[in-house]
Amino acid sequence: MAEAREFDVVVVGAGIAGSALALALADSGLSIALIEARELEAPELPQALGVATFDSRVSALTPRSRQFLESLGVWSMLQDYRLCPYHHMTVWDAEGTGRIDFDRGELDVPALGYIVENRAIVNALLTRAQATAAITLFGQSALDTCEKNATGLSIGLESGERLTANLLVAADGALSRVRERLNFKTREWDYGHRAVVASVEVAREHQHTAWQRFLPTGPLALLPLPGEAGHHYCSIVWSIEEAQAEEILSLDDPAFCRALTRASEAQLGDVLATSPRFAFPLRQRHAVDYVQPGVALVGDAAHTIHPLAGQGINLGLADVAALAEEVIQGFELCVSPGQMALLKRYQRRRKGENLLMMAAMDGFKRLFAEPALPVRWLRNAGMRGVDHLAPVKQQLMRHAMGLR
Ligand SMILES: Cc1cc2nc3c(=O)[nH]c(=O)nc-3n(C[C@H](O)[C@H](O)[C@H](O)COP(=O)(O)OP(=O)(O)OC[C@H]3O[C@@H](n4cnc5c(N)ncnc54)[C@H](O)[C@@H]3O)c2cc1C
Repeated sequence: MAEAREFDVVVVGAGIAGSALALALADSGLSIALIEARELEAPELPQALGVATFDSRVSALTPRSRQFLESLGVWSMLQDYRLCPYHHMTVWDAEGTGRIDFDRGELDVPALGYIVENRAIVNALLTRAQATAAITLFGQSALDTCEKNATGLSIGLESGERLTANLLVAADGALSRVRERLNFKTREWDYGHRAVVASVEVAREHQHTAWQRFLPTGPLALLPLPGEAGHHYCSIVWSIEEAQAEEILSLDDPAFCRALTRASEAQLGDVLATSPRFAFPLRQRHAVDYVQPGVALVGDAAHTIHPLAGQGINLGLADVAALAEEVIQGFELCVSPGQMALLKRYQRRRKGENLLMMAAMDGFKRLFAEPALPVRWLRNAGMRGVDHLAPVKQQLMRHAMGLR
């Protein structure tokens, strides 16, 4: 049997959370392995604009995530590639007159957030990781087994290679194999929604605004993408009840564009063209514990959340920043990165905030699905009221943007 390779930290999953963690730890003096099931060759990113060339998965990154990505030295790469800041956000209720407008001027910030294509974020992080000596990358190497022993963790890859680590970090997404192999318990339930995502061309300028309409069947978001003379693009996330999702997915392009124009109340004029559609089942999932001796969960491996406020990866990056800080501080004091007291500090810092955001998203989803007239009336009155209460609005904005 091949000799096991030894690392201080093994990170499983080179998505946004895992790649960011490897980079955040890279200058600390720790040896790091980053394991990914997919190939790690960064594909050439398309330059021409058009519905078919945008990644249909995008993220709305908060200013807090921007700051963290700046500290990792990757923000400038994202700025150079089709990043679209949004300055304004409009949320309105399909069943009444409730509406809230948020504007960057209210907080005196350059942007409320930034829409970035997911593959661009992963590419930027991996390009940096590949150029970093402290990180050893294992592409096309799915984790197969992980076992605890007296000295740490023993990890087996499907390729047959074996690694050992003082700390194993699961950044392997919502269906985390590490979480399952090590028997972490989760609490989960279906939202009964699927998210349909696509890139679309619209008739009118998006005005650097993130638009969100709450329909009784689920929220529809139109997120601004870069455009060019006479062509305006948005990425959509349309959360729909299961039964309706099948119907929407079976529509041909012109019929889908018409359905989307209606669902968005033609806020940006007619929807003129669409990319192919993809659908993601939406499930809330939260690990009861994020840590065990020698093991930590981050990002979607620890929590998945309804995408209605675009918070998933922002919470994931905040996990990564907190864990990296604890591990580096510990290392400077000669504390093993797998020490339980250190890992518990990470869990204490993150679990409360993640739970709060998950509860808020669940509450919003239920509130806007409620057809009863008194609830609809209160909801609309509440939205109009909040829209006129500057301090409450500012507090909501600060929270959503990850600012303290
Ligand atoms: C429709 C939709 C829209 C969203 N919009 C937003 C948004 O606007 N803003 C936002 O913040 N969030 C958003 N999210 C959530 C966000 O996409 C996720 O939170 C984020 O992608 C999770 O990143 P991650 O790195 O934790 O996991 P993932 O992106 O799932 O990465 C996991 C990685 O692990 C690898 N892997 C898996 N198993 C193994 C294994 N056994 N061995 C090795 N590697 C493995 C995978 O190949 C993958 O590369 C949205 C989600 C959905 C569904």
